[in-house]
Amino acid sequence: MKRIKSAADPSCLLNPGVLINDDKQVHIKNLKQLPSVETEVDRCTECGFCEPVCPSRNITLTPRRRIVARRALAMMDTAGDHKNHKTLLQQYQYDGLETCAVDGLCAAACPIDINTGDLVKRLRKENHSFFATKLASMVANKFALTVWILRLALYLGVTANRITGEKTMGIFTQMVKKVIPSFPLWTKQIGAPPDLDILKVEPIVPESASNGMIVYFPSCISRLLGNSLTGKKNIMETFQEVSAKAGFLVKVVENIHSSCCGQIFSSKGFSDAYSFTANKIVEQLWRSSQEGKLPVVIDVSSCAYTLHHFRPVLSLSNQSIFDQLRILDSIDYLHDMVMPVCSVRQKKENIVLHPVCSLKKMGTENKFRNIASHFAKQVTIPVQAGCCGMAGDRGFLFPELTISATFFEAQEVKAADYEGYYSSTKTCEMAMSEAVNKNYESILYLVNECIV
Ligand code: SF4
Ligand code: SF4
Repeated sequence: MKRIKSAADPSCLLNPGVLINDDKQVHIKNLKQLPSVETEVDRCTECGFCEPVCPSRNITLTPRRRIVARRALAMMDTAGDHKNHKTLLQQYQYDGLETCAVDGLCAAACPIDINTGDLVKRLRKENHSFFATKLASMVANKFALTVWILRLALYLGVTANRITGEKTMGIFTQMVKKVIPSFPLWTKQIGAPPDLDILKVEPIVPESASNGMIVYFPSCISRLLGNSLTGKKNIMETFQEVSAKAGFLVKVVENIHSSCCGQIFSSKGFSDAYSFTANKIVEQLWRSSQEGKLPVVIDVSSCAYTLHHFRPVLSLSNQSIFDQLRILDSIDYLHDMVMPVCSVRQKKENIVLHPVCSLKKMGTENKFRNIASHFAKQVTIPVQAGCCGMAGDRGFLFPELTISATFFEAQEVKAADYEGYYSSTKTCEMAMSEAVNKNYESILYLVNECIV
């Protein structure tokens, strides 16, 4: 082997010292350091399997690099290299923390289930000031008021754009962001807040025999951004129509205006606000569902994922009622309850889907595809489909993240023309609409347009 190596590479330029080495002690020299840094990621072997799925891979860091940077920080600290430590820590704020979508897709790709998003959430939590933590708790406590203020802000923004030109709010929010970096940016995907009158009416009694009653939880995203920009009914009206056609009585969650799944607090590491919101909504769902007798359906997949996974932050008594609740994503509802009882009036010719990360994590991507195939002759899921990087609000704060994350998928989708563009989470639909310049909407619209 040595003779072959020296014949092929006489100056030993290729991989010197690797595999063929005269030093009998080489296996215990220059060992790579893997210092313990954080329990969430200490088992990482830096294999890199997680890198291709990360939405920030082409703009800042991958999960592996986020971990490597934390290890580098620990080593600099130990070595007393304060100057470089300070510089890297500053850079980590944006590259490591701000641009992580905390979608947890890295955990699905990692052979040892490391979720770098969990580390990011904890670091974000540790970075919060006392004031920010108190403010988050106040927002959680007065959530109905928060939604009301946000709806008013959306309404004023749309009105300003209408009067002074459609770029007004974009320019205005960019100016404010220069002073307040955490200020969200306006995009052309934002419309006026939807009419909420449909949530006040008594359950719609379907013409056909009732298939039973469900509890409808319209997410706060739907209550804020659920309007259709193409003049169709809003998502809550569409949900009610689909349910009526399928013969389900719909009861809206009680005190709906103050309800939220808590994802907004969880992803930002506001654990007190998250725990408060999770405990509150589980009690609301318990009462609304007649103590777990009725299924609860939510219209945004990422919120469904949050509802399914907030058990650890619930009080002991709420954990016991949570275990008796049946919480369904709209995808489960459409696939398991609506599809079997509805006739197809017409099928779309060809449609394209954007499966959101939550479907991958909940294992319901197939159901999403099945619904689409039931109502369309040709269904495309782009080969490049992945996390859009929106993560609830990241795209409003760092639009460069969603632009980068959606780039390849958008190129693929733009290469053809489709009759419909569907997903199951409003904010991801907004990111994809922006990237593809077509209107992505909830798959509820597809079902509503295709059933009798
Ligand atoms: S896949 Fe897991 S072990 Fe490998 S680099 Fe990524 S986080 Fe580390
Ligand atoms: S949570 Fe998402 S954005 Fe963050 S490191 Fe993992 S894959 Fe990347």
